Amino acid sequence: MSVVTRVAPSPTGEPHVGTAYVSLFNWAWAKRNGGRFILRTEDTDRARSDTKHEEAIFDALAWLGIEADESSRAGGPSGPYRQSERSAIYREHTNALIASGAAYRCFCTSERLAELREAQKAAKGTFGYDGLCRDIPADESAARAANEQHVVRLRVDKSGSTKFNDLLRGEIEITNDNVDDQVLLKSDGMPTYHMANVVDDHLMGVSIIMRAEEWIPSTPKHVMLYAALGWTPPIYAHVPLLRNADKSKISKRKNPTSILWYREHGFLPEALVNFLALQGWSMGETDDEEFPIEDFVARFDPKDISVGGPVFDMTKLEWVNGEKIRKLSVAELAERLVSEGFAEGWTAERVEQVLPLFRERMKTLLDFQAGARFLLERIEPDLEGLTKKLKKADPEAVSAALLDACKELEAREGQSDDDRENALREIAAKHELKVGALFMGLRVGITGSTASPPLLPSIDALGTGESVARVRALAERMVVTR
Ligand code: GLU
Repeated sequence: MSVVTRVAPSPTGEPHVGTAYVSLFNWAWAKRNGGRFILRTEDTDRARSDTKHEEAIFDALAWLGIEADESSRAGGPSGPYRQSERSAIYREHTNALIASGAAYRCFCTSERLAELREAQKAAKGTFGYDGLCRDIPADESAARAANEQHVVRLRVDKSGSTKFNDLLRGEIEITNDNVDDQVLLKSDGMPTYHMANVVDDHLMGVSIIMRAEEWIPSTPKHVMLYAALGWTPPIYAHVPLLRNADKSKISKRKNPTSILWYREHGFLPEALVNFLALQGWSMGETDDEEFPIEDFVARFDPKDISVGGPVFDMTKLEWVNGEKIRKLSVAELAERLVSEGFAEGWTAERVEQVLPLFRERMKTLLDFQAGARFLLERIEPDLEGLTKKLKKADPEAVSAALLDACKELEAREGQSDDDRENALREIAAKHELKVGALFMGLRVGITGSTASPPLLPSIDALGTGESVARVRALAERMVVTR
């Protein structure tokens, strides 16, 4: 049987990292097996769905290199791929379920259902529909349907239990008296998630459902629906949810959840997919944590996913991102910085020249612009930071040493780093300063900050003339502000 996988996001907000995560696994498994990966748009919530969100999902996944073989954008033989355009299909199947007795029309008003809920709450009983409309005779039901608002519900046999196999967890069994007579078709004629999902997965030929574990409680309803429709359910593999550090489901309050956020904050797509692949999966023997996506595709098997809740660890993501940054050549990295808008005010050529100064320490693409700003403009020196770093060193001595250092740097322009460094060491000794204090003064004078790339290469990148001008300005301020 050919492998057909799918992801079924609802386009109700910014493209979510959870969608990227589930998509990655489904895409990889289809790819590894020469199968098909479908992206279906679950937009039956008409109030919250928006095509602009659907577009954003496509764009975000494309940025990550995860492209669906079939979707409302790519087309395909099982379309339409938007549930809002498949109403006739759901209606047809709902009608078949009504005809067979597996489903029934329910005419209860929302007021009645609210009262029922209140009463169940007061009695501390279980919630659920009480079955009032279950036994309305077929002809009466059909007649009322013509002019009364109604929904269609699944007739759940409350005796016994429903079992299904989860590839990652083994057999899961739920007793049927816990399963509500699920609404399949809403009064606006739109299907619920459960109905649409089952009908679509079947008609689209989906062979394995890999989705978030939060859907496990819904799966018995789906299994009942497959049986009622005379179909065989696909394989289920419920993947772990991405979690905040406190193990709660990943949420905006504790972690950025929009894929766009990661893009805007200088994460490389190859780093994000690599990181997502590590959530519940590992390379096995080698345990490598940084790998090309092709290696993941070549080895990924859903049965190897571990269900312990992986934590979305930003530090790890930044580490992977830094590694991916250094996998790029200087020219490639410069190109990315410029084309992705992370080098405003820079020409590609100039970025390439100075990039070696920053590349080693970069965690995100944002780090370049922040770190290299001193090359474009004079930055107000961090005097407070400098004072802390200088500890007990006498500012007057530092100031005098800085002025000496400027002369020396001018005289030695073009000389090797070693020669210039030795000269600076002698100056520090002459002023009875630690070398670190003199270097810190130079650093803050030139870059504005106590943390900077290596000093002498920074001076060369900025130019000796401008560097010493800045240092002199700082030296004067250090004496004046005393
Ligand atoms: N629309 C559901 C979601 O966004 C799909 C769940 C499923 O894959 O069955 O989570």
